[in-house]
Amino acid sequence: MKTGKVFLVGAGPGDPGLITVRGLELVRAADVVVHDQLGAPAFLGMARPDAELVDVGKRSGDHTLSQDGINRLLVERAKAGNLVVRLKGGDPLVFGRGGEEMEELKNAGIPYEVVPGVTSAIAGPAYAGIPITHRACTPAVAVVTGHEADGKDASNIPWTSLAGIGTVVFLMGVKTLGSISRRLVEAGKSPDTPVAVIERATFPRQRTVTGILLDIESKARAADVKPPALIVVGDVVAYRERLAWFERRPLFGKTIVVTRARAQASDLSAELRARGAEVIETPAIRIEPLSPNPALDGFIRDHAKYADLVFTSVNGVEGFVEGLVARGADLRLTAGKRIVCIGPATADAFRRRGIVPDAIPETYVAESLVPLFEGRTPGNVAILRAEQAREVLPDALRNLGYGVDVIPLYRTISGNPDTAALLDAFRAGRVDAVTFSSSSTVERFLEALSGSGIEPASIPGVAIGPVTADTCREHGVRLIGMAAEHTIPGLVAKLDELFSAIQEKGRGA
Ligand code: SAH
Repeated sequence: MKTGKVFLVGAGPGDPGLITVRGLELVRAADVVVHDQLGAPAFLGMARPDAELVDVGKRSGDHTLSQDGINRLLVERAKAGNLVVRLKGGDPLVFGRGGEEMEELKNAGIPYEVVPGVTSAIAGPAYAGIPITHRACTPAVAVVTGHEADGKDASNIPWTSLAGIGTVVFLMGVKTLGSISRRLVEAGKSPDTPVAVIERATFPRQRTVTGILLDIESKARAADVKPPALIVVGDVVAYRERLAWFERRPLFGKTIVVTRARAQASDLSAELRARGAEVIETPAIRIEPLSPNPALDGFIRDHAKYADLVFTSVNGVEGFVEGLVARGADLRLTAGKRIVCIGPATADAFRRRGIVPDAIPETYVAESLVPLFEGRTPGNVAILRAEQAREVLPDALRNLGYGVDVIPLYRTISGNPDTAALLDAFRAGRVDAVTFSSSSTVERFLEALSGSGIEPASIPGVAIGPVTADTCREHGVRLIGMAAEHTIPGLVAKLDELFSAIQEKGRGA
């Protein structure tokens, strides 16, 4: 059998955007992923579904596998012909024992490659708004382990040399912060040298405590700083006050729940994360095409009779096109008809397919479609939409004299979301907003939470529009906001408004 290969891959410091392109390619291709706790979890979902995932991370000081065990595992799996990714937090060769693993592989004759990663030593300060070098401050940087700073091995650390270096970054130093500060001062560093301790750097709940060598230990203790955290000592720390950016994004520190179907959640989630939020995806619904679908069969047969086609969601457009194609028909069947879309996202779903819709109402609710039909000669209208939907539009059009056929294309069913992370966040009182993009997300979300002890009144809901808002109220959800423009970007804008207002107030106080 052909021998496999081991790739030592840096996962970056935590923010999933900070893995390298090569690193991500390898995670996706791997047969086996051997990972630590730090940084890895975000990427495990990107491995192949049939990949073997082995957690060898440290938990409260214990290795789930000894270093020898890890080495043996890497060699065994590679010998069996696998593509093995050894995924390590930050950079694999910065205090990660990557060097030892390389030696072991070399001895065993296993081919290997190293894919460097963004080390927390560099990324942590950057995300705290601290430039680790600055021409005005220092020509040099040192990266040091704080692990041994208070033990008998402390003398391995060249304190006198470090005292002469402008920026010193300590990893693994939370427990020994007091010793680190004292030793640097003893070695000649000024006691009022600025220091920052950056906890969970690059994660949504990053926290930074600043002080000087003299008081940083007590300040960090008062703030109950916990690992993972890194320490930056040097005048560059003073830049943070002006240059901090990560914590100043509009949704920083907020935990926001996304309830859309998994297939559609990613855009909204990405947008919220980019604004600093911690996002919990709880896909409350799933979209299921109707099949068989006699109404669609009938539509295709009788399409010539319809002058207007109305679409009320992206799912409707997608279900329509897929339904046509599955039946050997295509979009040419819409030729000559007026295509009316409820909002910009629905219209874009057509544009992407090379068709420009004829009309979009001023506001994006079913009621506002009615004026687009007034004052015209009534003909036949087909409304292509979800199985469960309100009857306001068909009723209103019938009142205007139109012949209306509702063609259901899909239904929304429970997404059976994994609610573990959500419940943890609720119990810790950390959920700042739950976004609802349709009435069905409200209903299915409440179903998913039933029996959990979480009451609707404790759910801070933000609704995409008035219909979804009504559904929230009906079920007793505590509505904290409604998007002014009833679109996903409108929802994001509403969240910005809600939370930046609070943060401004907080800052002023
Ligand atoms: N190879 C890793 C470092 C491993 S040692 C790297 O290049 O980043 C583990 C130490 O790294 C932790 O004790 C902590 O000091 C630091 N560290 C790693 N990730 C961190 C993060 N997201 N925030 C703060 N410190 C982090």
